[in-house]
Amino acid sequence: MLYQSTRGNNERVSAAEAIKTGMVPKGGLFVPEKVPGLLVEEVLNLSYAQTAEKVFELFLSDFTKEEIKEITSKVYNKEIFGRDEVAPLVEIKNKLAILELWHGPTAAFKDMALQMLPYLMKKSLEKLGYDKELLILAATSGDTGKAALEGFKDVEGIKIICLYPHQRVSKVQELQMTTTEGENTYVIAVKGNFDDCQSKVKKIFSDEEFKKELLELNTELSSANSINWGRLLPQIVYYYRSYAELVERNEISLGEKINIVVPTGNFGNILAAWYAGRMGVPINKLICASNINNILTDFINTGKYDTHRDFIETNSPSMDILVSSNLERFIYEITGRDDKFINEIMTSLQETGSFQIGSRCLEKIQSELYGDYATEEETLLTIKKYFEEYKYLLDTHTAVGIKVYEKYLAHSKENDVYAIVDATANPYKFNTSVYEALKGREALAGKEEFGILNELSEISQMPVHPGLENLDKKEIKHNRTAEINELEDIIREIIKK
Ligand SMILES: *Cc1c(COP(=O)(O)O)cnc(C)c1O
Repeated sequence: MLYQSTRGNNERVSAAEAIKTGMVPKGGLFVPEKVPGLLVEEVLNLSYAQTAEKVFELFLSDFTKEEIKEITSKVYNKEIFGRDEVAPLVEIKNKLAILELWHGPTAAFKDMALQMLPYLMKKSLEKLGYDKELLILAATSGDTGKAALEGFKDVEGIKIICLYPHQRVSKVQELQMTTTEGENTYVIAVKGNFDDCQSKVKKIFSDEEFKKELLELNTELSSANSINWGRLLPQIVYYYRSYAELVERNEISLGEKINIVVPTGNFGNILAAWYAGRMGVPINKLICASNINNILTDFINTGKYDTHRDFIETNSPSMDILVSSNLERFIYEITGRDDKFINEIMTSLQETGSFQIGSRCLEKIQSELYGDYATEEETLLTIKKYFEEYKYLLDTHTAVGIKVYEKYLAHSKENDVYAIVDATANPYKFNTSVYEALKGREALAGKEEFGILNELSEISQMPVHPGLENLDKKEIKHNRTAEINELEDIIREIIKK
């Protein structure tokens, strides 16, 4: 299996090369040259790691079976994910299950892929006979950062720099990052929002001069964001495993279509679900849930992607995004891989801040996706309702997913389709908002985040996630703040260390 650019501006490359490089050097994203098929039958009654093996073998044809078995069993186990199932599927009411993707070390779904990516990266470098230093540059809205730092810390031959928007991540998220150990990890609070961080990273990736300069210092750049195919591939696995599990439990019959609800930011997770569907998981509708940064909702409903709007900070901060990178891959696939069209709309996005797709393409998108959003108020009410009615504690992002699913049901009048809702974070990771949902805003007065966390644990009787325990007592290892335009200099300085 080779990988090609969504903009037709690169030769086809091996999986190892696509993963090492992260993003197409001249702009554009790598996609597999074709989407392979995999019957759900083939993963029935397998473990999570075995399911991952089946999926990986199709996409990583330059890896041996033994190599794939080695890395999948190393990552997807009880030691790292705290339980044998890795991603438990919890049925909370009739025809609705929550897929808990947050049992990894950093308490958000990013671990599902970012625990794997360093192994994929290291094996890829080995295969390519690579003799340079790799510098991973990651922009984070809060959760990618810690997951990437944990995955890559102390990996030989690789340094990692994480950029997060200064004062725009939760205290827990910030402490998770700034207390990271490891000789090769760097964390920088950037003055700006997530989109500023992400655009800067993309800019650096396509700055030929700067890359040449780095190369003279024996260093190349790569990405741990979901623009890297090595991030998306591991996310396909849980859609196979959770569908198979519903069949194994006799909740659905083999072949029955289900709905999948994804709290969406960069469009990576939902794109992985779409690929799973194209490969063979029977899907009725993919539901793209946004918060009030609802640019994707508008796009799915009108065909116009328009970034001329305010960026709003919400209580589901990991979804506060206006430019969703993976939409490029999705439109490429939906248009039958029309790289000319992708070039047109990406130029338009860059030059005018918006693009528009035609009605045929829009109809196709609407036949597969439903897009809607939840307000902050609706998010909090949903958390309260599900805790009171089902004794289940949702985090804010997952609550956005649930609320949007309720809206979808009211709109579609379906009542017999089984649905899986992705739980993308542990509720304690966003404990201030979750506490506010249960006890009201006034109850927050005078309380600090870690007191709230412990109180929440008493109310819900759910133990604190090990990745969040004693965070306030750990030593701060990183405290650098920077302006966007200082980043090149900081990178130079870090490389020379
Ligand atoms: C990253 C993240 C999302 C958004 O996922 P995308 O793949 O970027 O769409 C949603 N919820 C949480 C908690 C996240 O960390």
